[in-house]
Amino acid sequence: MATGSAVPVPASHLDAAREAEPATRAANQAMAAKLPFSDTRDFEAAKRGLIAPVPDGVVTSASGTVLWNLGEYAFIDGELAPATVNPSLWRIARLNLANGLFKVTDGLYQLRGFDISNMTVIEGKTGVILIDPLTTAEVARAALDHYYAHRPKKPVVAVIYTHSHVDHYGGVRGVVDEADVRAGKAVVIAPDGFMQAVSGENVLAGLPMVRRAQFQFGPLLPRGARGQVDAGLGKSVARGTPGLIEPTQLIVEPVEEHTIDGVKIVFQLAPETEAPAEMHMFYPELGVLNMAENACPLLHNFIPLRGAVARDPRIWSKYIADAIAFYGPKTDILIGQHHWPVWGREAIADYLEAQRDLYKHIHDQTLRYMNRGWRPAEIAEVVDLPPGLAERWSVRGYYGSVSHNVKAVYQRYLSWYDGNPANLHALPPAPAARKFVEYMGGAAAVMARAKADFAKGEFRWVAQVMKEVVFAEPDNQAARELCADALEQMGYQAESATWRNAFLYGAMELRHGVLKLPARGPSMETLAGLSSDVLFDAMAIRIDPAKAAGKAFIINWNFTDRDEYLTTTLKHSTLTHRVGERSDKAAVSVTTTRATFDGVIARKLQPAEALASGALRIEGDAQCLAQLFATLDPPSDPMFEILTPGAGRG
Ligand SMILES: [Zn+2]
Repeated sequence: MATGSAVPVPASHLDAAREAEPATRAANQAMAAKLPFSDTRDFEAAKRGLIAPVPDGVVTSASGTVLWNLGEYAFIDGELAPATVNPSLWRIARLNLANGLFKVTDGLYQLRGFDISNMTVIEGKTGVILIDPLTTAEVARAALDHYYAHRPKKPVVAVIYTHSHVDHYGGVRGVVDEADVRAGKAVVIAPDGFMQAVSGENVLAGLPMVRRAQFQFGPLLPRGARGQVDAGLGKSVARGTPGLIEPTQLIVEPVEEHTIDGVKIVFQLAPETEAPAEMHMFYPELGVLNMAENACPLLHNFIPLRGAVARDPRIWSKYIADAIAFYGPKTDILIGQHHWPVWGREAIADYLEAQRDLYKHIHDQTLRYMNRGWRPAEIAEVVDLPPGLAERWSVRGYYGSVSHNVKAVYQRYLSWYDGNPANLHALPPAPAARKFVEYMGGAAAVMARAKADFAKGEFRWVAQVMKEVVFAEPDNQAARELCADALEQMGYQAESATWRNAFLYGAMELRHGVLKLPARGPSMETLAGLSSDVLFDAMAIRIDPAKAAGKAFIINWNFTDRDEYLTTTLKHSTLTHRVGERSDKAAVSVTTTRATFDGVIARKLQPAEALASGALRIEGDAQCLAQLFATLDPPSDPMFEILTPGAGRG
């Protein structure tokens, strides 16, 4: 998933943002009036145990590039939200500024505010156990250095990934040396199915997910009261170099107890929850329960805006209930891999029960309406948090929203299709929009009415109808501006940080166009962490059927550095592979290392160069290898159009 880019965004992009309309001021004031702002316990919890904040609030790379800068959020300095920020969102935007090294209890520390996620440190007998090494090597290294600046410098003997999202493993190469892992000096522990989940979520659909994550997290959005204020789970995603080291040990039983460097850890698998592969941990000697990312103090996503396979909130709720039953009576401190802890057995039970019911309620009520024949958008209008939950800060929709989570439940059970055959073979967006606008009397007629509705504060409708005009006439700047103005007001009203970021970034792209970023494939570090099975799947999704038409051949592969054999078959414009096999019918056999092959895939090395240097050797028809590479798409444009039709799409 996403790491931000250091592309400078012109200041004029923020200057273009408008003030809050009267309807937005009224909506935000109504929100402020109904929520319990006098309950400030979270502010105390977020500061408790602070040893030292992030030095200067900044992490830079070795070459001086700023990768993380809390100073960008200096404008978030008072209790009262500006008119352009939802007051509930403003509250968590203030809370998520708490940062530094925190002592949670004897032997357990957390590094918060170095990235969107937390790195947890457990002090063992001889070394330290790190839980979730943040998103990039640089910030993870900075966080560990900060820990060492205040605690004994003991070696990292274990890294535990709680789940398969990049903000929980991507920085691993900053805190542990792969050679040490291979030599058995450090173990890397993850939940069952971790590597499959990483590949499924972050490799095959990686490019569109990164692009969509720009809308979810707002990395390219200027910070400010009319820009990005938060990301819900934390301030933002840190920049730098993500990577991966494959786990050396998987947790496969529903509950497993291990002693790691003298520390007892009870692992509770919780698959198909917030991530396909996820687990909780209980540390019995410390009385600490770590719920990973399954019980953050907010409503999480059933599908995040970046896109993912629909999650299962019913199972999610069940695993929270299991954690309450198994560990609740012994838990004195509850921690997570985002946000701040909860202290006290009663408070923890109360908190976890609210989380359990939050996920189950939205799931159950969506199905209740589905069973009456309601459609996704209709259900999203009526399902809401019930009394008793709605007024709790810890379940507010700062990251997910009830609205898009309802749609995710529908999708999980009944797919994208609402069952109406008129929607089964509808025209794609651009030709449909041209027809709509033509039937409505042309762009000028639509815009005259949309402006009147904008003045009345009907921003949802204005964005919806102006989307049609923009798709019909993508170069109509006045249409783009009006659509942007409506999205922006929706952003100013949104309680969810991810909604706000999406609306405001969408408005920015409509006003100024899409920022250009260079196409780039996955990094060598990421490729090195992938199995050859996944690597060939990633290659297969780049086959251009037209270029591959009529070609059929088998290639044998031998990766000597991994002592690995595979065959690939190109047939019917489709590339399939078999791991661990060699074929007698192969047209060519390739002997090389994965490192060399990764270089070719990452375009750091030309196949011809690899051949010439002897790093890649072939037996048989060399043409087949050349033909295989010739059928592959070049790297795709990472900044494809979203708010306008885009070239070649109707
Ligand atoms: Zn996370």
